[in-house]
Amino acid sequence: MDPRRALPSVERVLAALDGLPHELLADAARDAVGAARDAIAAGEAPSEADVIANATRRVHDRRTRLLQPVVNATGVLLHTNLGRAPIGDEALAAAFAIGRGASNLEMRLETGARGSRHEHAGTLLARAVGAEAGIVVNNNAAAVLLALGALARGREVVVSRGELVEIGGGFRVPEIMAESGATLVEVGTTNRTRRSDYERAITDATALLLKVHASNYRMVGFTEAAEVGELAPLGPPVMVDAGSGLLDENTPWLPVRPAWLRDEPGVRQAIAAGAAVVTFSGDKLLGGPQAGVIVGRADLIATIACHPLARAMRADKLTLAALQQVALVYLSGDATSIPLWRMATASLDELRARAEAIAVTVPAAKIIDTEAVAGGGSLPGLTIPSIGVAVEPPDARAAMSSLRADGVIARTDSAHIVCDLRSINRTDDEIVARALSRI
Ligand SMILES: *Cc1c(COP(=O)(O)O)cnc(C)c1O
Repeated sequence: MDPRRALPSVERVLAALDGLPHELLADAARDAVGAARDAIAAGEAPSEADVIANATRRVHDRRTRLLQPVVNATGVLLHTNLGRAPIGDEALAAAFAIGRGASNLEMRLETGARGSRHEHAGTLLARAVGAEAGIVVNNNAAAVLLALGALARGREVVVSRGELVEIGGGFRVPEIMAESGATLVEVGTTNRTRRSDYERAITDATALLLKVHASNYRMVGFTEAAEVGELAPLGPPVMVDAGSGLLDENTPWLPVRPAWLRDEPGVRQAIAAGAAVVTFSGDKLLGGPQAGVIVGRADLIATIACHPLARAMRADKLTLAALQQVALVYLSGDATSIPLWRMATASLDELRARAEAIAVTVPAAKIIDTEAVAGGGSLPGLTIPSIGVAVEPPDARAAMSSLRADGVIARTDSAHIVCDLRSINRTDDEIVARALSRI
């Protein structure tokens, strides 16, 4: 008999599958039957059970590719591939409340007149840093592109050669500049740029002096840079891309300023020093949803908000709702409810106690000292003392894969596999314990 006639029909395979919408199950069934035909052509004789097993595996693989929660046990607090900052319950509740119905997104409730979506989170964040006005767009890359496009298109922007950085994910200052339609005027050298370098470059065509926070790398040794306060009196507005910077370098929302935070620049300090426009990320060191915030002089923020690109980059109501909640938390002066700060400032004793509770359930697990990092392209070279649970399986690759299958993303360190407690949500400790004991 032709072995192809023994193959189950697509409908028959489909009837054995579940867990995805019909269309996607049908893809898996068709592909499995097709693969079985190829196998027969190659001289094999797959049974009906083989075909169904193959289809079931395809369904499983397809489900694994769906966006889903995982546990970040890497020790990298803002892991770009794992969605950067976890968002707090209060901020998520705000997004839920606004998202599920109508809101005053663009209406003033006092008068019923048309309002602006920038009046909520944007205005509050401006207040939090002492700026006149603020708006929110989709991410900081968009914020920089929009601000340059609105304020400097067809004109010149003066930047230090030491700040022509690549942030990652293809964000390169010279390329963003070209894309915005502004002309880049490079001044100084890679390691030293002075106020006089900017001064000499200023012409009638100068639209902005731009300072870029080199978030993800650090220059040491014979270096010099001109501060915002030195540049502001030169005339053209000073724009600062603070990126992963802090709202306020004194972190007044934390009981104690963490030693490892060292000299991350503050948006508040840049505004106080005379910056006309500052852009920063809503998720990096703010610990909110992905967003780009632009704060500064009211006239410049108005120009930016009117630019056609602002419409293309505007943040949606879920982001604005969550970010408004985050802004209120910072204004309250206590940001310990923000998951990023809770993780970053958890004591070693607390982390060790959690690690011990995990380790007792895992054969041969050891508790070790580790070094966590901020990640997300911020605070290069700085580490946060942390605690991990380490295991030493015979096959580290297979063990990592087993952990991933249980939704736990760990770190390998030679033969060890380490789950770093600092980046793990406290409520996920049990998932980590179970996944480790299943290796
Ligand atoms: C991270 C960063 C960006 C890009 O911000 P996203 O929010 O990731 O778009 C731009 N500039 C600087 C200095 C950064 O650190």
